[in-house]
Amino acid sequence: MKAKKVYLIGAGPGRPDLITVRGLNILRQADVVVYDYLIDKKLLDEAKPGASLISSEPLGKKRYSGRSCSAQKKINELVVSEAKKGKCVVRVKNGDPSVFSRVSEEIAELIKNRIEFEIVPGVTAANAAAAFSGIPLTDRRNSSSVVFLTGHESNGKKETGIDWNSIAKFDSIVIYMGVNNISGIATRLIESGKPLDTAVALVSNAGDINQKTVRGRLKNIAAKVKEQDIEPPAILLIGKNVGLERDFNWIKKNKRVLFTGLSKERFFTDATYCHIPLIKIEPLDDYKEFDSRLRKIRDFDWIVFASRYGVEHFFQRLREIGYDTRVLNGMKIAAVGTSTKTSLLAFGISADLVPQRESSEGLVEEFKKIDLKGKRIFLPRSDISDKGLEKEFQRLGAIVTTSFVYKNTIAKDLPDLDLTSFDEVMFTSPSTVRNFKKRYGRLPENVKAKCIGDVTLREARRCRLSD
Ligand code: SAH
Repeated sequence: MKAKKVYLIGAGPGRPDLITVRGLNILRQADVVVYDYLIDKKLLDEAKPGASLISSEPLGKKRYSGRSCSAQKKINELVVSEAKKGKCVVRVKNGDPSVFSRVSEEIAELIKNRIEFEIVPGVTAANAAAAFSGIPLTDRRNSSSVVFLTGHESNGKKETGIDWNSIAKFDSIVIYMGVNNISGIATRLIESGKPLDTAVALVSNAGDINQKTVRGRLKNIAAKVKEQDIEPPAILLIGKNVGLERDFNWIKKNKRVLFTGLSKERFFTDATYCHIPLIKIEPLDDYKEFDSRLRKIRDFDWIVFASRYGVEHFFQRLREIGYDTRVLNGMKIAAVGTSTKTSLLAFGISADLVPQRESSEGLVEEFKKIDLKGKRIFLPRSDISDKGLEKEFQRLGAIVTTSFVYKNTIAKDLPDLDLTSFDEVMFTSPSTVRNFKKRYGRLPENVKAKCIGDVTLREARRCRLSD
């Protein structure tokens, strides 16, 4: 069998959406994904179901940087052997594959085994650190040269091979893997002629929700970094441009909002949105009761969808029991809001009713305009939905059947967050409110809760997260 081509993809740093479109398209087709531990693991959700996901770090070792030769050898062997089995192997590297990431060793192995390969570039940490801290890498007025180097070995003792006199001549200096040797790096640069008050910024976790920037001068940056207890991964940016950040910094001027819902595609232009979904949507373990309702769906006059997950799981079940959308011909269908309506459109259905006010209450208001006496309504819902909507419809004279079609649980492995770095937390459902309370407790003073829908707002008030 001919070995399959291997892809070495750059995932970008810090957040899952900095990968290129090409990288993402390839990742989605992979049979085997071997990933570096620094990549955002949410990216792995993009792999197809059943793909093997393999971390390239030695098991049980919590090392920060560098990898032992034997571990590197094992990765190389694995990539080669899987490709030879005809599998599509994708190596996912943090940042860009060709910047400080031992890509040449992996390529040498592929060439030795006559396996075709392709490198898909990624956003390197330097670019992300610069963009997300508002520091330009070059500038027409005062920086026409930039150099990238590793600070890994520059601790002032070892012979590093780095010619610091040449490095000091660059206008902008970008140092990877330099946090632990920051004091040695500063000393070397000062000894090599850089002025003591050259501006420096250390950007840790660039692009990530917990990004931190420490600003200082060559003479005091080491002390400042120590004081603030900054951990790798971090990038050091050195040069006049670092001072320009005051004019350029779009991050500081923007409102920062923590978005707790699931909709990855939401993109708001009025602020910087950080996505930490607090809920997880999953299929039920048992569909006996739902499927039996579905088989008699034509007994109903209306189907009311209160969320897009309801829509997605409803149609999944419809397929599972061997039906398709034609069974709904002539039935009336309502959607609670725009995203539910859009989900319906994907199944070829244009909703008969979508309230102006996108909430359960808005739905009820609209239904008040219709004679619901004796009408049979089907409500496919989540296992934790409240009875509010059902009761309101009953009050209007309808006969309501609620049936669970998906599970809504708390997201796992939620990260520690510095909540004070946000201006606002946006809640998209009562479950996001409850899960926030469970995981993070209270909102710091000055951080506002913003709620989508009245039911969510009520829950936020009950949990004392909103006035
Ligand atoms: N190939 C990667 C670099 C790997 S070396 C790239 O192109 O970015 C690992 C170093 O990259 C870290 O020590 C740190 O200096 C830098 N780095 C990686 N991710 C980072 C992040 N999110 N924020 C700041 N620096 C990061």
